[in-house]
Amino acid sequence: MDVSLTASQLRIREEFEAVAERDIRPFAAATDEAARWPEHAFSALKKAGLMGLHVPTADGGRGEGLMSLALAMEAIGKTCASSAICFGMHCVGTAVIAAKATAYQKNNYLRPIAAGEHVTTLSVSETGTGAHFYLPETKLSRHGDRLRANGTKVFVTNAGHADSYVVSTQASNPDSESGSFTCLIVDRDRPGMEWLDGWSGLGMRGNTARGLKLNDVEVPGANLLGEEGDQIWYIFEVVAPYFLIAMAGTYLGVAEAALDLTIKHLKKRRHSISGESLADNPLIQSQLAEMWTRVERTRRWIYHAAQSGDQASANAIPLIFGAKVEAAETVVAVTNDALTLGGGIAYRDNSELARLPRDARASHVMSPTTSLLKLWTGRALLGRPLL
Ligand SMILES: Cc1cc2nc3c(=O)[nH]c(=O)nc-3n(C[C@H](O)[C@H](O)[C@H](O)COP(=O)(O)OP(=O)(O)OC[C@H]3O[C@@H](n4cnc5c(N)ncnc54)[C@H](O)[C@@H]3O)c2cc1C
Repeated sequence: MDVSLTASQLRIREEFEAVAERDIRPFAAATDEAARWPEHAFSALKKAGLMGLHVPTADGGRGEGLMSLALAMEAIGKTCASSAICFGMHCVGTAVIAAKATAYQKNNYLRPIAAGEHVTTLSVSETGTGAHFYLPETKLSRHGDRLRANGTKVFVTNAGHADSYVVSTQASNPDSESGSFTCLIVDRDRPGMEWLDGWSGLGMRGNTARGLKLNDVEVPGANLLGEEGDQIWYIFEVVAPYFLIAMAGTYLGVAEAALDLTIKHLKKRRHSISGESLADNPLIQSQLAEMWTRVERTRRWIYHAAQSGDQASANAIPLIFGAKVEAAETVVAVTNDALTLGGGIAYRDNSELARLPRDARASHVMSPTTSLLKLWTGRALLGRPLL
């Protein structure tokens, strides 16, 4: 499509497409079936030097922003949604670390990430506040130059596989309330980290999400990201834009995969009694056109939103909120239509097409959820506070 991409964005797209087609696609069905963490995807992305997408070039990374994230996630999402969500959460975690990284954090996290030696991930969700991820109940306390976290996180993608976890807590001030969003890095296997039962999802089954109990988990004070209680800044400048574009790109890729499989099926399927190919049927031709239109419109919205975010345009925030809403509505509709047009062949036990609607359904419930994003968009348009 005719969106203007920079030379480095074009290169990023090519590199991710190559890895996704060669190293990720062949394992997508097995990843889903065995609900297995996509180690092969991370190995390939490491080998290709793509782990540091959001690490500044001065620290050995690619120094890329939201547009490249959208392209990367679209490429992976088109081949394996589980791999996309796992890599996407690594990207969001990296962006949160990079946003206000100190020299210590650059040396210990960003440079190893860029070198392909470190996987990170985001751990913000909690049962007590559900979709309202910006209201952590997890407590933080200070003990000299150490920090201690106590609480329980849920749905941690890359659980047990990541080398570090970007965890949200309340501020350590004893008077703080659950709005005082603070982020810190917790390294893997710290004493007091207790992994809870695995979550077996309808789709996105390779993300190996689990709950994480933090029992007095201690980290160096240097692992604090930014200032305590940086709530609004982190949520709306980093967590939400990177997460929303990562997920919008993923679901765009899933919708494209459904469209491609549908076209392939329609061209191939022929009724022997009439000799008619499904591709010759006018009703089916218009149904296909509707699917294509949705995908094309969504791609344009996501690219526009990502570019607006990179350029810090005044209207970037509602565009980015809308990008995930649009992607979620499109992917659910298009994968559903693909399943219908695929007939009994697509419906058979775990065909490639049958996997896609299962992956697609996570789009509405991953927070910020569709209903929250619509609420925030309305507030942004009316000039009201978002939270
Ligand atoms: C595949 C997958 C991967 C995930 N990975 C991660 C991860 O890596 N890290 C992480 O931190 N989290 C992750 N999550 C968690 C996710 O982002 C959400 O926080 C979680 O799914 C919310 O679930 P809940 O059942 O607690 O939501 P609930 O809060 O119970 O919400 C249920 C529904 O009610 C709606 N709702 C709730 N409150 C309101 C309201 N006030 N007004 C209108 N509607 C409302 C919601 O929009 C939602 O549709 C993941 C989730 C999934 C499904």
